[in-house]
Amino acid sequence: MQRIVILTGAGISAESGVPTFRGPDGLWEGHRVEDVATPEAFRRDPVLVQRFYDLRREALGRVKPNAAHKALARLDAEWPGELLLVTQNVDDLHERAGSTRMLHMHGQLKSALCPACDGRFRWEAPLSGETRCPACSAPDTLRPDIVWFGEMPYHMDEIDRALLCADLFISIGTSGNVYPAAGFVDLARHAGARCLELNLDPSMTSGRFHESRLGKAGDLVPELVETLLAG
Ligand code: NAD
Ligand code: ZN
Repeated sequence: MQRIVILTGAGISAESGVPTFRGPDGLWEGHRVEDVATPEAFRRDPVLVQRFYDLRREALGRVKPNAAHKALARLDAEWPGELLLVTQNVDDLHERAGSTRMLHMHGQLKSALCPACDGRFRWEAPLSGETRCPACSAPDTLRPDIVWFGEMPYHMDEIDRALLCADLFISIGTSGNVYPAAGFVDLARHAGARCLELNLDPSMTSGRFHESRLGKAGDLVPELVETLLAG
């Protein structure tokens, strides 16, 4: 039975109404990426960065998983072989659709991190204003549990292991701008996996896949899952 690794990016959540990272204006919800997604930005202007992620977290209450999230959850439930879904997304739409064999490599909006004790906590409320770490009680240390540029993504050992023994690698809705995720195709391909990309536009890494299908994730992913499950 084939071992499948799937990588998803902001594009899979676009049809749910979650804006992608770099829209046509090069901004993320009106902000330059350097101003909200780096440790330096957080040191410089913690209030702005906390508010930015508070708004993103709050917005999750107004969006729902789409056909692509649901199809991947169905694949997870019905695929008898090994499967790992790795998402770069910090939203919770994959798990709300029902995926369980999955990892958030860039952290999650609904999680808080305490740099004082390295504790990570499920967190639904705003992080701006006064907070106290539930583990070490430090005041006002909590930050979004998001992997910012320059920080080490989570679960890399487990992801590398899965890529190295994958038979099929599928990348969905990602621009191929952000490493190490953009290099997964090379690792998987070198290890012998068939590599398939589904994206709205050609990505930075399209040429490194065996096949690229262009279109909306909401159309392409259910179609692919149907084919995979039909054998
Ligand atoms: P990106 O915004 O750089 O690229 C998104 C890609 O999706 C583009 O290539 C675009 O053509 C494609 N796309 C847009 N709509 C699509 C659709 N309907 N169907 C299929 N493809 C579509 O996103 P990225 O590569 O994931 O960038 C990485 C960073 O952005 C990650 O670190 C992630 O944490 C962060 N981010 C996450 C979210 C989220 O959690 N939903 C949202 C914005 C940014
Ligand atoms: Zn703490």
